[in-house]
Amino acid sequence: MRSIQNKVTLTYILLSFAVITLLGLISSCEIERYYFNRVLLGLRSEAGVLSALVHEAVEVGEPRARTARYLNAIADAAQMRITLIDSAGWVIYDSAVPDSLLGTLENHRLRPEIVEANKRFEGSDVRISASVRGNLMYVARFVSPDDFRAPVFPHLQFIRVATDLTEVEAVINEIRFKIGIAGLVVLVLVLGVSRLVARKISNPLVEIGEMIKEIKAGNLDQKLPVRSDDEIGKLVELINALTDKLKADIEQLEKLGRVRSEFLANVSHELRTPIFSLKGFLETLLDGAVDDPKVNKMFVERAYHHANRLDVLLNDLIEISRIESGEMKMSFRYFELMSTLRQLVEDFADAATKKEQSITLKSDLQEISVLGDKERLRQALGNILDNAVKYSQERAAIVVRVQSLDGKIRILVSDSGPGIHEEHLPRIFERFYRVDKARSREVGGTGLGLAIAKHIIEAHNSKIHVTSELGKGTIFMFDLKS
Ligand code: ADP
Repeated sequence: MRSIQNKVTLTYILLSFAVITLLGLISSCEIERYYFNRVLLGLRSEAGVLSALVHEAVEVGEPRARTARYLNAIADAAQMRITLIDSAGWVIYDSAVPDSLLGTLENHRLRPEIVEANKRFEGSDVRISASVRGNLMYVARFVSPDDFRAPVFPHLQFIRVATDLTEVEAVINEIRFKIGIAGLVVLVLVLGVSRLVARKISNPLVEIGEMIKEIKAGNLDQKLPVRSDDEIGKLVELINALTDKLKADIEQLEKLGRVRSEFLANVSHELRTPIFSLKGFLETLLDGAVDDPKVNKMFVERAYHHANRLDVLLNDLIEISRIESGEMKMSFRYFELMSTLRQLVEDFADAATKKEQSITLKSDLQEISVLGDKERLRQALGNILDNAVKYSQERAAIVVRVQSLDGKIRILVSDSGPGIHEEHLPRIFERFYRVDKARSREVGGTGLGLAIAKHIIEAHNSKIHVTSELGKGTIFMFDLKS
């Protein structure tokens, strides 16, 4: 699987492998150089000492055999190979080759250390010896034939010392091996650490993935724990917030759906009664009552009454759906409240007089300017006043009172009607809610009047309040900006 975990681990491993290999190579080369340099320096000084010794032996005039033994002893003690070479490149002495075999040795004129010594007095080389086995380091020194002009080593021109590098190489290889082991240990450590780090990164992502799967399946009740304040923590917080928002939105949508179907059911129910009645009266008329002068007018009047009721209901329905869908725009302006209220009270005077009720308007001021949508407020107040007249008994007193408080105007509509039981008070502003269904129908209520009034008043950034006492009366109250 090309998971983040594997990718992170692989990156760590490759990177560490590259770094370790590079460091290993550099350090092993440096170590090799260091050791070889040390050996080279040693050989150089030994070549110098040796040339002095040979020179001394020659000076003293030792015979060749003794000088050779002497040189053999030095070579043994110093664990070196000593070779003396003449100006033509032929070996005239070699501590590692018996004198009898000297003639079989190749000419050394073209050996790199000899070529170099010829040019620069001293030369060196590392290679596998052709004469003895093993990797050797050679240092050759040019000596002036004039200094050694003795019968022991006639034509001696190069003194060459060589040492076997096997031991040094063994040490270097051991160091390399240790570096390799250390590198491996580091790699294993990196592998472990990288897997841990990768898991720390990928685990929350896996969790987030699982959560999103759940969200997709519609399960919004899950919450991811926020374990860090880094980018992943922030992501988790965001996803949690998103789920909360989604949950709230869905709940709201569901609620809306419920409200809508409830509303539809209510509307159908409300429409059914007047339509049935209307149909019933029309059917009776069609069945012959139309020709009966004693009843035909009454049936037509009743049919008209229900058609009228249907009209009122439809108007209220259209009104409330326009308000609730946001289609109805308010237009706020300053207007004179008192004249509007006087007019409104006048509009209800007829209906009140019929029930011998009194409607009075009370205010300390003659003119009051308020901010609002005049027509809509008239509609809201009209619905409240209409209820007061409709539900109050005969000879009840209805009062519209205006009070000026600091910065606002309070409007109260009170009646001395039957009052509303407190259990109904919180619900009377709901659509189609009626305390007494039969009574509401009887007086021509639609159950929408207060719902419409509440919407309008709330659109004015205000709230409608109701207080009521059974048998005493009801007061509706709201404030407007002045
Ligand atoms: P309706 O069309 O039935 O009057 P409303 O929304 O206007 O609908 O009022 C809801 C209910 O509140 C009414 O059915 C009635 O029972 C009650 N109500 C409203 N105003 C008054 C009032 N002034 N006195 C007594 N009851 C009232």
